Amino acid sequence: MVGIVVVSHSEALAEGVVALAREMGSAELALEAAGGTDEPGVLGTSAEKVQAAVERVMSPDGVLVLMDLGSALMSAEFAVELLGDTPGKVVLSEAPLVEGAVAAAAAAGGGASLEEVAAEARGALAMKSSQLGVPGAAAPALEAPAPPADAEASIPVRNAIGLHARPAARFVETARGFDADVRVAKAGGGPPVGARSLTNVVALGARFGDTLVVSASGPQASEVIAALEELADEGFGDGVAAQPPPRPVAPVRSPPSVSVGAPREQDDRGGPPEAGAVLTGVPASAGVVVGPAHHLHGAFAPPPERAAEDPESEQERLGEAIATARTAIERDRDTLAARAGKAEAAIFNAHLVLLEDEALLEPAYRAIEAGARAERAFYDAAQEVAARYRALEEPLLQERAADVLDVGRRVVSALTGGDSDSARLAVEGIVIAGELTPADAAALDPAKVIGIATAHGTATAHAAILARALALPAVLGIGEGVLAIEDGMTVLLDGDQGTVQVDPPADVRREASERRERAERRRIQARERAHELGATRDGTRIEVVANLGSAKEAARAVELGAEGVGLLRTEFLFLDRAELPSEDEQAATLREIATALDGRPLVVRTLDAGADKPLPALPMPPEANPFLGVRGLRLTLERTDVLTSQLRAILRVAAEHPIKVMLPMVATLDEIRAARAVLEQARADTGIDAPLEFGIMVEVPAAALTAARLAAHVDFFSLGTNDLTQYTMAAERGNERLAALLTGPQPAVLRLVAETVAGARAHGRWVGVCGELAGDPPSAVLFAGLGVTELSMAPALVPEVKEALRGVELADARAAALKALEADTAVAARALGAALL
Ligand code: PEP
Ligand code: MG
Repeated sequence: MVGIVVVSHSEALAEGVVALAREMGSAELALEAAGGTDEPGVLGTSAEKVQAAVERVMSPDGVLVLMDLGSALMSAEFAVELLGDTPGKVVLSEAPLVEGAVAAAAAAGGGASLEEVAAEARGALAMKSSQLGVPGAAAPALEAPAPPADAEASIPVRNAIGLHARPAARFVETARGFDADVRVAKAGGGPPVGARSLTNVVALGARFGDTLVVSASGPQASEVIAALEELADEGFGDGVAAQPPPRPVAPVRSPPSVSVGAPREQDDRGGPPEAGAVLTGVPASAGVVVGPAHHLHGAFAPPPERAAEDPESEQERLGEAIATARTAIERDRDTLAARAGKAEAAIFNAHLVLLEDEALLEPAYRAIEAGARAERAFYDAAQEVAARYRALEEPLLQERAADVLDVGRRVVSALTGGDSDSARLAVEGIVIAGELTPADAAALDPAKVIGIATAHGTATAHAAILARALALPAVLGIGEGVLAIEDGMTVLLDGDQGTVQVDPPADVRREASERRERAERRRIQARERAHELGATRDGTRIEVVANLGSAKEAARAVELGAEGVGLLRTEFLFLDRAELPSEDEQAATLREIATALDGRPLVVRTLDAGADKPLPALPMPPEANPFLGVRGLRLTLERTDVLTSQLRAILRVAAEHPIKVMLPMVATLDEIRAARAVLEQARADTGIDAPLEFGIMVEVPAAALTAARLAAHVDFFSLGTNDLTQYTMAAERGNERLAALLTGPQPAVLRLVAETVAGARAHGRWVGVCGELAGDPPSAVLFAGLGVTELSMAPALVPEVKEALRGVELADARAAALKALEADTAVAARALGAALL
């Protein structure tokens, strides 16, 4: 006999419905209630309770599950996942709870099959509606029947990634911009859906190569079809691709390296990690801390209970909260666009479209009509829509559930007066986030945040660079499992090993705090000696300088013992604006930094835009492989106006301060010659003949391999190990699935460093390193051993690197470095440097 489970937020209601249904069925009916949470009397649902109920009524005939609303659906879905293999099928029914349960019980008692029982439950409202004379009331009210079409078209999906959130948002925006009722279906897929709902459009699951069948009716039917065709021609704003993207593969993870306790590894999926579980990620910023986990965006928990006002006032409150959320999203979009570029910020446009999504709004407003509080109604609607996304096949679309919950969180916190401003932590804590956007990272309060753990990101991601700049221990790219750690739970974050341990045992905590104290003592000692010149124990001079990304960091770098600046990333001058900075403004900022350095050297890198550094003032046509595209020097050689104004500004300051110029992303001698010609022209035009050292970054393997040739034409080299690793390992630097390839020092990269030093020496040139590895003491020691004489890093790392160098004989560093060239892995190479410290 088919089993039936009744899931409700209320235990009493579930029991009541079961009692009622039992009246209709036979005595042996397999009928179970799964109401309320695990805590008696608390409203809500529990996946474990549902799972247990299903197991109790399971038979080879299968089980039908009826649910009330919101999280009941999610709990039931989770329960099905938890069940694994069962003798019979489990069907989750969309039928109304009371009527459905009664009809299902009657059918099951009569020996009907699972399909028949489900159909009976589904049609249960028909009896009621026909009795009350409400035709069609049993049909879901979301979609009005489609009027006859006035215009139609078949539209191919030709953007690489298909109709995921951003292209779908553009589709919906376009459809909404016309006076027409637009329906869309995927050819060979399900029935057409309304094109005003982002959820509907994304749920089509249309991928590269699919065809959309679009129909429209109303006064502007043909205009909207034409506009959608045009949008499709542009790949829905993503550009048209020649082929679909490769299918995602399982993440490559570095092996877990845990030094203490007997921890268990935690799977990426499933509920909160167990006490003692260890999650592994990329060690992105050194240091060990223990503290409470704090989700950056707060857990999206059910809003607190409150008596509902009348439906009209509740609907008004919801409308106001949506408007507040819209303003906040627009503000965040603009901030992020200014900091990281429009492309990064475009996800917020999809959030804006979601705010108007019928699939979210209709159920919320309907629930309010039925007496729900606005926050509860929107919370449930968001959870339900997120569950729909999670149920989709495509992993990329499943991830959009997070966007829905983000929007839901904003609206609900606007309604409850909660603080949706992520960055503020009420207590000292370890921030946990899916990903730290540049905006999030920049807004962190270093007084409250003691560490950072993220699901995504790599050691060279902007978040990692920022964490090191703030000297905050960080582990990135841990995977989704980290998001399941409960708010407030104690975690041990080990930025040296790249691990996060949940609720660590007492002895592990003790050892961690001892390590922290030792590190703290070392840090204090390093700070006390930070102003000594950088040198190895035998007195070999190694300049230890800073990487800067803004003018305001210069004074702090000097305070921390930086002997100058080895890399000024001039992109900051171009970030927050739609227009290019003038030559005067650039000269004024450079002068300000040079003055703060008080006679110390300043290496100014010319603009390195493109790829991961898009700039609003320099819009770029889309490229299939931006990291292999027109970036760095390639871009400024196309835009010599930009290069000229930078070089003129640099020359003007060079007349007063020891400043050097450095070109990014050099691959060939021709590029060096072309840039030098622009410099000579700028000299001629300004009449400034001040000395100006002219160097290049070595971050393309071609430059390292031809260093002996290039050295004749430049004054110095600075190795950009972030990009050099990316291009040597053919691993995009922001791709956390490639973390193992990106975590250095890779022996292959060390060989290129050695090649560069040899090439430079032949012409008496000096070599520095300004990639993130320069600030990693074991790697820094290896670089010194290879003959590098300048190391440039985040200012906060200067004292420790100086301290590390002070403790090492150059001959030992050299021996370790030569062995590292022969090492089999980056881990082994780094260990050779670490053994000297
Ligand atoms: C590098 O590539 O190592 C580097 C220092 O440049 P950026 O990180 O700015 O690309
Ligand atoms: Mg670089």
